[in-house]
Amino acid sequence: MNAIAAGTELDRAALDELRSSFEGELIGSADPGYDEHRAIWNGSIDRRPVLIARCSSAADVIAALRFAKRTDLPLAVRAGGHSFPGQSVCDGGVVLDLRPMKAIRVDPDARTVTARAGVLLGELDRATQEFGLVVPAGIVTHTGVSGLTLGGGIGWVMRKYGLTVDQLLSAEVVTADGEIVRASEDENPDLFWGIRGGGGNFGVVTEFEFRLNPLGPGVLAGPIFWPMAESPRLLRFYRDWIAEAPDELMTIIVHRRAPPLPFVPTELHGEPVVAVVCCYAGSIEDGEKVIKPLRDFVRPVLDLCQPKPYLDHQAMFDPSYPHGRWYYMRSCDVAELSDEVIDTTAEHSMRIASPLTAFPIWQMGGAVARADDDSTAFNGRGAGHTFNITAMTESADGFDQEREWARGLWSALEPHHTDSVYVNFLMDEGPERVREAYGDERYDRLARLKRKYDPGNLFHLNQNIPPA
Ligand SMILES: Cc1cc2nc3c(=O)[nH]c(=O)nc-3n(C[C@H](O)[C@H](O)[C@H](O)COP(=O)(O)OP(=O)(O)OC[C@H]3O[C@@H](n4cnc5c(N)ncnc54)[C@H](O)[C@@H]3O)c2cc1C
Repeated sequence: MNAIAAGTELDRAALDELRSSFEGELIGSADPGYDEHRAIWNGSIDRRPVLIARCSSAADVIAALRFAKRTDLPLAVRAGGHSFPGQSVCDGGVVLDLRPMKAIRVDPDARTVTARAGVLLGELDRATQEFGLVVPAGIVTHTGVSGLTLGGGIGWVMRKYGLTVDQLLSAEVVTADGEIVRASEDENPDLFWGIRGGGGNFGVVTEFEFRLNPLGPGVLAGPIFWPMAESPRLLRFYRDWIAEAPDELMTIIVHRRAPPLPFVPTELHGEPVVAVVCCYAGSIEDGEKVIKPLRDFVRPVLDLCQPKPYLDHQAMFDPSYPHGRWYYMRSCDVAELSDEVIDTTAEHSMRIASPLTAFPIWQMGGAVARADDDSTAFNGRGAGHTFNITAMTESADGFDQEREWARGLWSALEPHHTDSVYVNFLMDEGPERVREAYGDERYDRLARLKRKYDPGNLFHLNQNIPPA
């Protein structure tokens, strides 16, 4: 028996057929690197696929997909591996691993970029910032462009330029029946609508083409910290301050215990703090004026908001969300930071036990809210703020307690939840929650699209929308 099939019942003929055409690497449980390649970002997920197909091209994707169908094995699709609930790896099935597909092509004159499915945000930003250009995307450099885009894509410059999906010009998609199609406003527009927010339900996207926007390369950005006890007062001030803020300003509030990082004074290490992290996507001078009232509010304990390369700011959160820790998330949108929302948030944040737990509250609005709500499958353009309640521990130790903390805050905020929630911030919360994430009308439209493009629900290891 060869290494791949050790301990499994893999169909020998199907495997031989796959091997004859597959150009990438095929990894089974007995192969070196199996544990490395099945690991994903969330260390609390430990799943054992029978085969990891590391695809180097769309042809490889088709071959691996045919293999999964022929052997009737579940198929997981993996790019950056950042799925909170670990939907990009499965037990006893095939993982279609897109990470080797790395090419990026920037056309600075046309202001477009194409990225293959395995590209990470930091790689995309490095290539485009060479030309002072950007695709608005997320806030941690090792997130996959693929999964982030397919769910919507929120980040530091979305209030100025819109969501990541708002920049998508076209995509190359391998469908459930193994065909390569293009999706754009002109070609398969229904599919193009669905992949801009509907996740991986409709096919495997092998390439994305985005519009580029000017940015930096310098921005005024970084966190400003206060003791967490100031949170109720600070957030009341903050809500009035951002009400007048221009689209160039994007902020994220973080409650946590101050991390022992080199730029944090030792006396703050482990102390509960609240930070407003800013990114001003305009001139440094204008940014200084806009941010001044926040600085003047109450003297911060640490002010790290300063001019810096956008690439540095993009990497700022990387040390706080590394691979392999145990993570649990709950998410909700709220319309506004009412007194009750603020007080509930502050009160629960004081109970954070883990020194690692850090959770973002995203300021939404701006260009995201102005885009036509029907233009993409993304739901939640009207949200005021997105809560991304993240519990984090180094390992299983203390994880259950921290998870209960996250659930507790989410439940306490329940009276204030709007009727949207960002699909990329869901855990494995059941079919009703996926429907809630999209709302009935959008969900039904997505389910009809699913019937057209994937009637057998081959792509079901995701925030699944079963065919209508
Ligand atoms: C540390 C961290 C930071 C984050 N920051 C942000 C942020 O700033 N903004 C934001 O919007 N989101 C953010 N997210 C959420 C992120 O958008 C989702 O976790 C997203 O799914 C990650 O994509 P991925 O390719 O890394 O994940 P994967 O786990 O590889 O994939 C996620 C899902 O997408 C499917 N999928 C992936 N690639 C493809 C493809 N090419 N074709 C079809 N289906 C595919 C997978 O099957 C899986 O269901 C963050 C997540 C983490 C863990």
